Amino acid sequence: MTHPLDSPFVRDQLALRTAPANDVRRQPDGEFVLYWMQSTHRFEENWGLRRAMLEADRLGKPLLVYQGLNPTYEHANDRTHAFIIGNARHLAARAPSLGLTYRFNLRHRVADDRLVVDRLARRAALVVTDAFPTAGVAERTARVAGRVPVHMEAVDSHGIVPAAAFAKEEWAARTIRPKLRKLLDLSLEPVEDRPPRHPMPPDLLRAVDGDLPSLDLARLDLAAEVARCEIDHAVPPVATVPGLEAARARLEAFVAEALPRYSDRRSDPTDTRGSSQLSPYLHFGQVAAAEVARRALASGAGEEVEKFLDELVTWRELSLNFCVRNPRFATLEGLPAWVHANFAQHARDPRPVTYTLDQLERGATDYPLWNAAQHELRATGAIHNVMRMYWGKCVIAWMPTYDAALRALIHLNNKWGLDGRDPSSFGGIQWCFGKFDRPWAPRRPIYGSIRWMSLERAYKKFDAKGYEARHLPGGGAAQPSLF
Ligand SMILES: Cc1cc2nc3c(=O)[nH]c(=O)nc-3n(C[C@H](O)[C@H](O)[C@H](O)COP(=O)(O)OP(=O)(O)OC[C@H]3O[C@@H](n4cnc5c(N)ncnc54)[C@H](O)[C@@H]3O)c2cc1C
Repeated sequence: MTHPLDSPFVRDQLALRTAPANDVRRQPDGEFVLYWMQSTHRFEENWGLRRAMLEADRLGKPLLVYQGLNPTYEHANDRTHAFIIGNARHLAARAPSLGLTYRFNLRHRVADDRLVVDRLARRAALVVTDAFPTAGVAERTARVAGRVPVHMEAVDSHGIVPAAAFAKEEWAARTIRPKLRKLLDLSLEPVEDRPPRHPMPPDLLRAVDGDLPSLDLARLDLAAEVARCEIDHAVPPVATVPGLEAARARLEAFVAEALPRYSDRRSDPTDTRGSSQLSPYLHFGQVAAAEVARRALASGAGEEVEKFLDELVTWRELSLNFCVRNPRFATLEGLPAWVHANFAQHARDPRPVTYTLDQLERGATDYPLWNAAQHELRATGAIHNVMRMYWGKCVIAWMPTYDAALRALIHLNNKWGLDGRDPSSFGGIQWCFGKFDRPWAPRRPIYGSIRWMSLERAYKKFDAKGYEARHLPGGGAAQPSLF
């Protein structure tokens, strides 16, 4: 059943998804309600936007949607900037037809005006923003919430099921899967969004615009604008087209071509269309995971849909739960006790092969298949899921310590991945170290009982040479043995 925006269903969902970010009061004289878009870059199925809109209606105030892009977030580079600004263009073009007032600010240099959101917040009756455990969003929210004189709330839109439905850290897919299954149908029930009831008065809008550095999203030269930003220009944009329309086109193509044989096709790293490739869109919230899940279910592809939902829901929300419930998700401390027992036993094992971060980053190891994965990441902003596991596992043995290996993987993944800095980035990397997994036999040097994956055996499992030929500039030399 489809629920109207003003319904008990939406109220209940919002009660679970919303948390105060400060204990300052609302400002009854505020001129509007501000929705500060940080990690959910869409208007559809956006629970923060829904919360802000309902509160604006209740207070009899207009709603302002504001998104800012700074040069100061971790690994700020041309790749992510181009994807975010490209999407902002679509949002700006669509907002009027949805009755929304959307403003976007691009802060080019670190020294430029950094208090735009503060100024807007000072005029607001209430500020609503996105709750997101990674990519520095929670930290930025806390900083702003600590300095603005108005109540601020953070609303979770990342998962299909509200993250607050799981009060504790879940330990494995098998523990969260049955709980998600119970909540999924309800969480997927659609809501009919509508425009806010009180449009933004033109004089107020002029005053707001007067306070914002001017930027004409419709006319800007994207490449030139990105080039002006004080960010890392060594990580270039990729071919992935930003925006909801592009995400929906990708989803339709995936459902028509690959979903009916998903279990087989997703296991082949040479099959470039065998999985949805939606992770960048899902990471930046350009499309809702709930929309993707509903579309997959409507395809009628039976067991294949179950397999796809196991990735999109179980594994994605397990990573989200990890990052929400375990503040040490980016360190070895986030790993279970049995992994630490391994570390204690194997920390001094000789590392026959080690590489520097620079060698890894350039994809310049002695292992062509690993290098091919690194080149895929550099060129496309992602690595095929199967190769991502080999890629991560190898680095554990190639760094002098486990800690250095974890830091190297986080650096490479989050710098070059268009879908990096996501809860699934940390879940995926930590999985390589044993998170969500169990001990495996036989024990191996360095890894102990952490699951090991053999690069040599990969050549027997899939067309690894074909994968190398696709991604490796100039092919590769013979591969030396790992141990
Ligand atoms: C070392 C390592 C690093 C990873 N880094 C990232 C990352 O930076 N960002 C990222 O989104 N995922 C990451 N993953 C998880 C997974 O590899 C990618 O989500 C997946 O390959 C994305 O391709 P797709 O969109 O075609 O996936 P599909 O197979 O089409 O799956 C649909 C969606 O489900 C989610 N998903 C799929 N597999 C997983 C998984 N194993 N864990 C969590 N969510 C999953 C993703 O959002 C994905 O887009 C990583 C995995 C590993 C082992």
